[in-house]
Amino acid sequence: MIPFLDLTRQHAALREELLRAMARVLDSGQFVLGAEGRALEAQLAALSGVRHGIGVASGTDALRLALAAAGVGPGAEVLTPAFSFVASASTIAMLGATPVFVDIEPGTFALDPDAAARAVTPRTRAIVAVHLYGHPAPMDRIVALARARGLAVIEDAAQAVGAAWAGRPVGAWGDAACISFYPTKNLGACGDGGMVVTDRDDLAEHVRRLRHHGDAGRYRHVELGFCSRLDELQAAVLRVKLARLAAWTEARRRIAARYRARLAGLPLGLPVERPEARHVYHLFTVRHAQRDAFVKALADLDVGAAIHYPLPVPGQPLFGGGGEREFPEAWRAAREVCSLPCFAELTDEELERVAAAVRQACERVA
Ligand SMILES: *Cc1c(COP(=O)(O)O)cnc(C)c1O
Repeated sequence: MIPFLDLTRQHAALREELLRAMARVLDSGQFVLGAEGRALEAQLAALSGVRHGIGVASGTDALRLALAAAGVGPGAEVLTPAFSFVASASTIAMLGATPVFVDIEPGTFALDPDAAARAVTPRTRAIVAVHLYGHPAPMDRIVALARARGLAVIEDAAQAVGAAWAGRPVGAWGDAACISFYPTKNLGACGDGGMVVTDRDDLAEHVRRLRHHGDAGRYRHVELGFCSRLDELQAAVLRVKLARLAAWTEARRRIAARYRARLAGLPLGLPVERPEARHVYHLFTVRHAQRDAFVKALADLDVGAAIHYPLPVPGQPLFGGGGEREFPEAWRAAREVCSLPCFAELTDEELERVAAAVRQACERVA
């Protein structure tokens, strides 16, 4: 069986170094908000082309705190794509605000800027731009819309650390960007973690306060905050892995290029990489008109594939279900998408076997 993802390979290669990093934290006696976290914050801010990083407990909390710091609360509307991981919308609702769904561009799966412009109302406060699968959203157009309408832009970069649009890193476009260190992400911890990166001093200070009970210093709590910090063990693990991120991204991009060459001409939609985009291939996601039968055929051929995501966000029971007619591209994506194995430790031989299996699965399902 070729796994969809195998983290044990990554950890086997880094085992001694990870254990040394964890031992360093144990010996320091400092487990929350210490030197490891501060060093990681500085490194990820630099990678994102901004001045501030604020470590938090998860990517979900990065979104929740960044949105709160941007003034999103009861009565506000926030535009968010109809096709994403649920947290791109649920974090808006957690703050008492209303997620307003926007259909996606079929090529990049990003929120369609024209549809977003039509969805703005006097109550709109912000846009959540998701860089889905590691392909950046069209940030020049999204930022231009936001500027024209006085909206904040929060980038959901949970799947896109290291990606860039028009030569500028994701994270440097919006008012703030949110990174996830969930173990399966391109830069994954050995547990949960996340970070807000921003170039705005006011937002950085506000998120820093919100992650620690609204504390302005010395147990003076000036607003209702959260308890959401990145712990030192995760930060130490992440620093070990961050040193490999560039090489891992190159490996993912090489895998993507080889899949493209091997799968050309099949009745499959291959991932789009727009000329302005540097895609980091968190996922290599194809489309197939009979996706469920295709995934079943791959499983019969011992290839692990995964579906991100089988249901658009407004279709989730949480949001009342429905919306198929309003967001046809989101629904079509949910019916067609399928992600193939794409991780740095996938061997050339495995890649060739996956490509052969995809070819066979296309024949069987046709
Ligand atoms: C993973 C993910 C999140 C949430 O991150 P967690 O660390 O799991 O809380 C948010 N948005 C997107 C697009 C994601 O893929």
